[in-house]
Amino acid sequence: MGPGHLGVGLALKRVDRRLNAGWLVLAAYLLDLLLGVFVLVGIEQVHVPPDLPARHYLLYTFPWSHGLIASLGWSLAAALVALAATRGRRLAAFAIGAAVFSHFLLDAIVHVPELPVAGPSSPKLGLGLWNHLPAALALEAALVVVGLVLYAGVGTSRTPIGRYGMPLFASAITVMMLAGQAMMVAAPPPAALAAGWILQTLGVSLVVYWLDRQRAPR
Ligand SMILES: [Zn+2]
Repeated sequence: MGPGHLGVGLALKRVDRRLNAGWLVLAAYLLDLLLGVFVLVGIEQVHVPPDLPARHYLLYTFPWSHGLIASLGWSLAAALVALAATRGRRLAAFAIGAAVFSHFLLDAIVHVPELPVAGPSSPKLGLGLWNHLPAALALEAALVVVGLVLYAGVGTSRTPIGRYGMPLFASAITVMMLAGQAMMVAAPPPAALAAGWILQTLGVSLVVYWLDRQRAPR
């Protein structure tokens, strides 16, 4: 899933208003960042199906970044890091942990059954909504809208950037990602894809971090 994770990250700002939304968005995309790293070091794989022009989605072998048990582990680890970094703010730790695990849940809706429960040879989960692409893209757009509405209620700003920056940026990212998937008929080499996921995650989180700083908690 693409921009849907951004929507969830923004929505979770409701849980701890003092936590910058950039951290929540980074947490919501953490599993894709790990996927990028693991593809680059060769322990996970991305596959380009021969019928990509009809499918518009790639296939993955990713037990360590996107497995159910692995995702729970990453969520717990991220929550503990947040707990330490915020000097014991439990709500911040919960929000970060929930953001990480939400990635697995949303991916399980759209991916075909390829998310392993545990290791590489365990049963695989995935409802395959990507096979009904308009519905999948509509779900992602809806998540972004809900995320923006919930986020808007958390803070306030006197400046135009603080007021309109986040909705404009989230809308632009959503259109770019969804159009990219709807029009995907070819894919770059795995290393380029992996580098793209890492850079995109860091870039989006950084912009959200900066935009969130333009607002004050209500
Ligand atoms: Zn993912």
